Amino acid sequence: MSCPVMTTGKRFDYDLFTIGAGSGGVRAARMSGSYGARVAIAEYSDLGGTCVNLGCVPKKLFVYASSFAADFADARGFGWSLGERGHSWAQLVARKDHEISRLNGIYERLLHNAGVDVVKGRACVIDPHTVEVDGARYTAEHILVATGSWPRMPGIAGAEHAITSNDIFHLPTLPKRITIVGGGYIGVEFAGIFQGLGRQVTQLYRGPLFLRGFDDDIRAALAREMRRRGVDLRMNINVESITKLGDDGGYRLALTDGSAHETDLVMYATGRTPRSRGIGLEEAGVTLGERGEIVVDEHFRSSTPSILAVGDVLGRVALTPVAIREGMAVANTLFNNKPTTVDYEYIPTGVFSQPPIGTVGYSEHDAHAKAARGRVDCYVSEFRAMKNTLSGREERTLMKLLVCRDTDKVLGAHMLGPDAPEIIQGLAIALKSGATKAQFDATIGLHPSAAEEFVTMRQPRAEVPAM
Ligand code: NDP
Repeated sequence: MSCPVMTTGKRFDYDLFTIGAGSGGVRAARMSGSYGARVAIAEYSDLGGTCVNLGCVPKKLFVYASSFAADFADARGFGWSLGERGHSWAQLVARKDHEISRLNGIYERLLHNAGVDVVKGRACVIDPHTVEVDGARYTAEHILVATGSWPRMPGIAGAEHAITSNDIFHLPTLPKRITIVGGGYIGVEFAGIFQGLGRQVTQLYRGPLFLRGFDDDIRAALAREMRRRGVDLRMNINVESITKLGDDGGYRLALTDGSAHETDLVMYATGRTPRSRGIGLEEAGVTLGERGEIVVDEHFRSSTPSILAVGDVLGRVALTPVAIREGMAVANTLFNNKPTTVDYEYIPTGVFSQPPIGTVGYSEHDAHAKAARGRVDCYVSEFRAMKNTLSGREERTLMKLLVCRDTDKVLGAHMLGPDAPEIIQGLAIALKSGATKAQFDATIGLHPSAAEEFVTMRQPRAEVPAM
């Protein structure tokens, strides 16, 4: 069967054809459309990509749902008496789905208003200027690949019994015992969600301390607080195989220390792989890196100059605001006469663990590597948040600032505690602007808040950590 070819009289059907309507793809398409380009975007699933449908947004809604457990417990210390409580997972999923549908609709309207054609179906690159979607071919001067990433599963025996974050948002029921494998963002966030929803949670991490790459004190403090809340957090351990124990019997995991562990649900959160294979990219001359990431220059152009890429498929920084910034850069470069690059320094990030982490800049370890060793001052404040005086909760908040002794610039700001992501977003502006410790100190605190600690840290910690 031959494919119909769209013709408009111009050299190409479109100026830009975007594959993937996630955070990066939608932003590039919308902005390009608003600059007058003729744009199409292909998507086989719901608009909004991983962030809206299977990531940031539903995850945060689940975090809110689960955090009521701690609020109920804390409320007693403030005079509340509470009756019987229950939680419906099915109702939470249904209400979340309703909200996500609303967001899908907003994305559709935004694209429509920018004059972007939405093409439903799986797209494949045929040549440097042609894309095929469900048998129809479209030509474009530029093709933008924004296909995102996909959960990675290690090839252990019984891996087919495990679920990933792709499955969790539509699970019909949430069983009693849940085991999470992996100690990255997704692992710690879901450990907190399930624990808050009253499940018995075990989290397994293969290394000595989870959240590799984050500041060591923050990692250790989160491990302590998660254990205090009841998560069975085990380090230096991995899964060798998963066996199903009959129809209702759950699963048995054989662990690397020789022990066995029984559970009702196994969720893998062991990283994500760029989605670049099987869509004609290599055949069109696009160079992929070792992990399947599309190799691009500073203007997001691949080795085939008419094919560009943004977002998780680059394997750089897999965060929604970064993909959005990359999408904007592409639109500005191609259609707004403003060649734009993206500055990847001082990207703030939050881990919506319970309690949450907010972080921007260098960890203490990396700050010592960046500045001359011994030329970094570390300011630390650890305290019991005011709310916990009456709630009786033992949890402690931790804040850190890393300061270059030579320039007085603040190189890193880290926090574990309530509202940490909200607080760190504000501090990120200061760090991005090159703020010095003297400027932090000159700022008057907002009282009473936890955040004011960031402007009242006076004495650096004496010891330098072993590298
Ligand atoms: P991460 O890369 O953050 O973490 C993966 C974890 O799995 C690490 O602890 C890693 O260990 C471990 N791991 C890797 N391979 C294996 C294996 N074969 N066996 C056992 N453990 C293994 O990935 P996630 O899946 O948690 O999240 C993917 C990305 O999504 C994040 O990196 C982040 O960019 C993004 N994200 C951002 C969020 C946010 O902004 N709040 C929330 C969720 C996701 P090791 O450290 O030893 O390599």
